[in-house]
Amino acid sequence: MSFSVETRSGLLERFLQYVQIDTGSCDDSPSAPSTERQLDLSRLLYNQLKELGIKDVFLSEFGVVYATIESNVDKPCPTIGFCAHVDTAPDVPTGPVRPRVIENYDGSDIVLGDSGKTIAFSENSELAHAVGKTIIVTDGTTLLGGDDKTGVAVMMEMAKFLLDNPDFPHGTIRLCFSVDEEIGRGADHIELDRFKCDFAYTLDSEGTNGIDVETFSADMAIVTFHGVNIHPSIGKGKLVNAIKGVSAFIDLLPKDGVSPETTENREPFVHPVDISGNCEKTVVRLILRAFDTPQLAVFADWLKELAAKAIEPFPGMKADVETVFQYRNMGDGLRERPEAVDRACNALAKLGRTAIRQIVRGGTDGSRLTEMGLPTPNLTAGSHNPHAVVEWANLDEMLETLEWSLEIVRE
Ligand SMILES: [Zn+2]
Repeated sequence: MSFSVETRSGLLERFLQYVQIDTGSCDDSPSAPSTERQLDLSRLLYNQLKELGIKDVFLSEFGVVYATIESNVDKPCPTIGFCAHVDTAPDVPTGPVRPRVIENYDGSDIVLGDSGKTIAFSENSELAHAVGKTIIVTDGTTLLGGDDKTGVAVMMEMAKFLLDNPDFPHGTIRLCFSVDEEIGRGADHIELDRFKCDFAYTLDSEGTNGIDVETFSADMAIVTFHGVNIHPSIGKGKLVNAIKGVSAFIDLLPKDGVSPETTENREPFVHPVDISGNCEKTVVRLILRAFDTPQLAVFADWLKELAAKAIEPFPGMKADVETVFQYRNMGDGLRERPEAVDRACNALAKLGRTAIRQIVRGGTDGSRLTEMGLPTPNLTAGSHNPHAVVEWANLDEMLETLEWSLEIVRE
């Protein structure tokens, strides 16, 4: 499939428009969406979908946008969904984003404005595939937001393409633009009776030609140490300091393994992310991650043993371990219902490209959606170096994702 110059420039224009809207989400905020600014993009998408002529467009109170493109063929075919998130990760400044377009990239190091930051060719192997292509970078002071505005822009351009080309045969297609994915709440407000499909795809992975078919399974462990507080002046024989318990506990964690800084590929880990407390009570939170779901229970038992060992030198101290469910490896659900992965791989083969099946050391909206009964693998959409000021996006890879998505829905 070759796209018109208008499709190429339209996709770029959309992407540039979307990244300049600051949509950072916020972990500390209890509201939904977590930040008002996400609604700026949700409302824009809602209006643009309406302007394209789509009748069934809905903006929920949580900021999630849904749209349905009706089937134009007579035969029964599956309803296929696409999902991308409007929010960006609050790890680095999320705005104001000042994107810079580099046409026909020449393979040199990319200096980001006068920020002092550089994307070095030698340290970014993916840049080798971008020589001669169009890439988009920042001025080095914010993230770009290609995670996931590449996906958002591709889905919007797909909608435009299908409405402009009524002869292109397809079944019913549902689009969903979610919020708060970056803070782990993406699937919380996706209503499956609105996003009603047989299977779906998130467009939220880096690079091109990749399909994420497995994610981590994830729990959070909350380990609480209970001490006894009393004025230090009369503390002898009475005071039990919970801070010393948590310190001993952390010290028992291995230094050479089972952590994100010492593992890769399919290796699981336990990762302390937060400590708070005082003499009386100290709480440490750890995230537990494994591709093999039963490993999470093994980790929880292990943490109980470590906590018991940590308090041994401190008579009177108590410790308890609670685990909180987070999400599950979508590989389990996708193996049970393989049609989504099969269809995507076959579609890419028809385009003369080979799908690379990938695993993600994290979660996606698709982890939760698959668990909720909607098989949802994750496709690459052209972003690179996410959550960083050295983030960049590849327009040619975004076009490849558009081509792939259209081939997936073609009947
Ligand atoms: Zn993302």
